Amino acid sequence: MRSVAVIGGGPAGAMVAECLSRQGFQVRLLDEKLAWEKPCGGGVTQKAYLQFPFLSDLSKPHAAIARCQLRADEAKPYQVSLQHPVLIYSRKELNQLLLDRATSAGVHLEQTRVTSVERSGAGWRLQCKKSSLEADYLILATGARNPFRRLGTEWDSSNAMLAIGYYLPVASSQIDLQFFSWLQGYLWLFPRGDHISAGICGKGASHGQMRAALERYLDDRGIAWEGAAFFAHLIPALETRHWQQNRVAGDGWLAVGDAAGLVDPLTGEGIYYAMRSGELAAQAVVGSRTRSDDASLEAHYTKLLRDDFVEELELAAKLARVFYLGETGLGTVPQRMIQFARHNSRIRQLLQDLVSGAQNYSGLRSRVSESLHARVLSTILKYLRGSYARLESAANDDHPQLPPDEAAELR
Ligand SMILES: Cc1cc2nc3c(=O)[nH]c(=O)nc-3n(C[C@H](O)[C@H](O)[C@H](O)COP(=O)(O)OP(=O)(O)OC[C@H]3O[C@@H](n4cnc5c(N)ncnc54)[C@H](O)[C@@H]3O)c2cc1C
Repeated sequence: MRSVAVIGGGPAGAMVAECLSRQGFQVRLLDEKLAWEKPCGGGVTQKAYLQFPFLSDLSKPHAAIARCQLRADEAKPYQVSLQHPVLIYSRKELNQLLLDRATSAGVHLEQTRVTSVERSGAGWRLQCKKSSLEADYLILATGARNPFRRLGTEWDSSNAMLAIGYYLPVASSQIDLQFFSWLQGYLWLFPRGDHISAGICGKGASHGQMRAALERYLDDRGIAWEGAAFFAHLIPALETRHWQQNRVAGDGWLAVGDAAGLVDPLTGEGIYYAMRSGELAAQAVVGSRTRSDDASLEAHYTKLLRDDFVEELELAAKLARVFYLGETGLGTVPQRMIQFARHNSRIRQLLQDLVSGAQNYSGLRSRVSESLHARVLSTILKYLRGSYARLESAANDDHPQLPPDEAAELR
């Protein structure tokens, strides 16, 4: 029986371990903390629970949130009802759920820190704090702070978002998102049962600037944060050029989840991509049983990723800057979308789908242009109707006025 060592028991490691164990591999999963409250919003979008239906199982400990309030800079907040709710998990609960599934599939879990890895014959030798082990394959699922720099994605600060925040004992039943025209990222409040995760993530701003913006936001809403548990972490957000040379696999090893940089660089969504890359890595290893060389394992995994979601993430990387920072002279995308959504049902629907993760990036451009096209047509029709009505009433009325909704459309 071939053996696999998985380092890291987050969503990526737990998923690849479960899948490989179900396929008859002898799998050992090593994590220094096992289930823990990893800094994270815990938001699980529609594409994740469609792919992994057990995530929306009502007996599992999560909240299903169908209301979201959006703000862009100082504009009035805009309330969106989500047709496809976002599920919010505490990360400790989510990790536990996934590790339980792995254990039931026969994975051997061990709470230990792996300190070094090296090639040993055709396999691997792992040194842990107090023991060592050997395995045929190595799966790296060590997250964004991967200590094994020779393996996994090679990234620097330009390929990461800083994420900081607080867990606050406040009850809420909606998601709040705030966008700022100075930040390539956003601020969030995610309700998680008896507390909220309040955080801000992004590129291009300092830790101090982001923390001050978050604390000001909380102060303005009367939410106390002083003395609360604070977190700071990194979210991989690879730049366009980095995707082309991203190092996700090599001689006898594969990287999954954050360790492979597999996060949406626009939204920071990583749980889905961690779990999905775990499934795909397992498929690649299972396929390699029938092949002889490791080069084909690497090539097979890279192709599976590319055919599945990597092109989407590359597109997200291309869009991220202009989405958040504008740079077209027409304002930022969140500002414009919120403004248009107030008057246009198609843009409203699109906004809902974006928040709930039901809209992919490849279909975004055509959907936006269709919606705007429809909006322009409806504006012209309204304008013509209004002009006709004004002509009719001109004989009796010296001071015709546009109806308020039409005036707003034409602004
Ligand atoms: C603040 C913040 C908010 C986020 N919000 C969301 C969100 O709402 N929705 C979403 O989809 N994504 C979100 N993300 C991204 C998401 O958290 C990650 O993409 C996801 O956790 C990646 O899973 P993973 O299994 O690859 O890594 P991780 O979940 O980071 O797991 C890595 C594991 O490896 C273990 N490990 C590391 N090194 C060693 C070692 N040497 N020996 C033993 N064990 C080791 C760690 O203990 C850890 O358990 C957020 C990220 C941050 C930072």
